[in-house]
Amino acid sequence: MKAMLIDSTRCIGCRGCQIACKQWNELPAEQTTFFASKGYQNPRDLSSKTWTVITYNEVQIQDRFEWVFGKLQCFHCNIPACATACPVGALWKTEEGPVAYDANICLGCRYCQLACPFLVPRFEWDRIFPKIMKCTMCDDRVVAGLEPACSKVCPTDAIIFGDREVLVAEAENRISLNPRGYVHHIYGKDEVGGTCVMHLSNVPFEELAYQTNLPQKAFANLPAKTPADYSKPAMHAIPFVLTGLGIALGAVSWVVNRRMENERNTQSKEGAK
Ligand code: SF4
Ligand code: SF4
Repeated sequence: MKAMLIDSTRCIGCRGCQIACKQWNELPAEQTTFFASKGYQNPRDLSSKTWTVITYNEVQIQDRFEWVFGKLQCFHCNIPACATACPVGALWKTEEGPVAYDANICLGCRYCQLACPFLVPRFEWDRIFPKIMKCTMCDDRVVAGLEPACSKVCPTDAIIFGDREVLVAEAENRISLNPRGYVHHIYGKDEVGGTCVMHLSNVPFEELAYQTNLPQKAFANLPAKTPADYSKPAMHAIPFVLTGLGIALGAVSWVVNRRMENERNTQSKEGAK
């Protein structure tokens, strides 16, 4: 299973990964404003049009302040709560690692938003028929044997991509080689049952606004057959059922109209006699 390791000690906050994500996924730019407390972070948060954001965190390290950069995006959980919650199977865990989704199937019910422990999926508030949007870990690239656009473009190798177990070993190695340079925790290795996006940091993860009170096991075990497996055929049948119902009602309406027309013709003939 493929994964990404994001080492905040190597990130220079250039936001090349943010731009690469927009370019590969053809996401539009957003109007941004300078806002207090986070300095140069831009934009402020994830949205349906921004699937990854580099966060700017001014952190006190001993007697000085330093910028430490985090990366918001989908964590691509090993057992994704979003996919478990989705009633139509619009989100699913791929064998390669990414949690993919199909916006064409999405109902816009927002169950996945409520289920996600990392508050990742975002709603298209500005559309008449809104859907959910989130990072796909460039599953189209990964399936083709390529790495995600963000890790490909990172100039400092702050993001690396590879087999999950290799990246866990690499993270453990970095911590053991520089024990004073890292928090001794690989964020995402075990959180909610493990994720395919893992982080290393030299400051406590709460300083980077990551959720640090999460359980070490998944919220729900995906059964052999997921709820989506059961509901998907039913939900897929809805358009056909509605079409069939429309045809049946049309036929009934035609028959009723014909009868009324015949009755009118008969009455007008009798009146003429
Ligand atoms: S981080 Fe949230 S949206 Fe991403 S896979 Fe996990 S539950 Fe789903
Ligand atoms: S491209 Fe690399 S160095 Fe630049 S902001 Fe993204 S993670 Fe940091």
